[in-house]
Amino acid sequence: MKFCSECAQPVSLLIPPDDNRLRYVCSQCGTIHYQNPKMVIGSIPLWESEGESRVLLCKRAIEPRYGFWTLPAGFMENDETTNEAALRETMEEAGARVELHELFSLLNVPHVHQVHMFYRATLLDLDYAAGVESLEVQLFTEAEIPWDEIAFPTVSHTLREFFADRKRIRSEGGGYHLHTRDIRKPMRQA
Ligand code: ZN
Repeated sequence: MKFCSECAQPVSLLIPPDDNRLRYVCSQCGTIHYQNPKMVIGSIPLWESEGESRVLLCKRAIEPRYGFWTLPAGFMENDETTNEAALRETMEEAGARVELHELFSLLNVPHVHQVHMFYRATLLDLDYAAGVESLEVQLFTEAEIPWDEIAFPTVSHTLREFFADRKRIRSEGGGYHLHTRDIRKPMRQA
């Protein structure tokens, strides 16, 4: 941030009185521009047929991670709920109609100032289609998932935990539970 959104004068990075973090503060009007994490919301669209479980992934048509696969997800907008964001992103990126279930994963990614959330979902039909931000959209069984071509660690963690839960539920019963995880910046190799 370089200029104040209130008065267009330059801002400087400093710790305001009674605060303990660097903030962008306007040199002219004194407005403190607080910056907070963004929410990235998505779904895990499941399709079950003939004893096989498949999830719907999108191949990204945008940077970052162009050409890599992801669950349908994107930035939450103002004036919507997390459920509405998950439904909207699933429609925009994958053209997919789903029934949304409970929250499955919540992942903090502090170094990029984001929180990612994925809801379990059931695909209502197979009339999905790539949106403008996707090159293609495809159903994958666990064995078919291109693990080396997954766009973000939050997506690979969510997919692994999703299939692990399903395996456990099949063998021992019980249900899904919420998976939370903090993903830190990768440490540089010594
Ligand atoms: Zn200002």
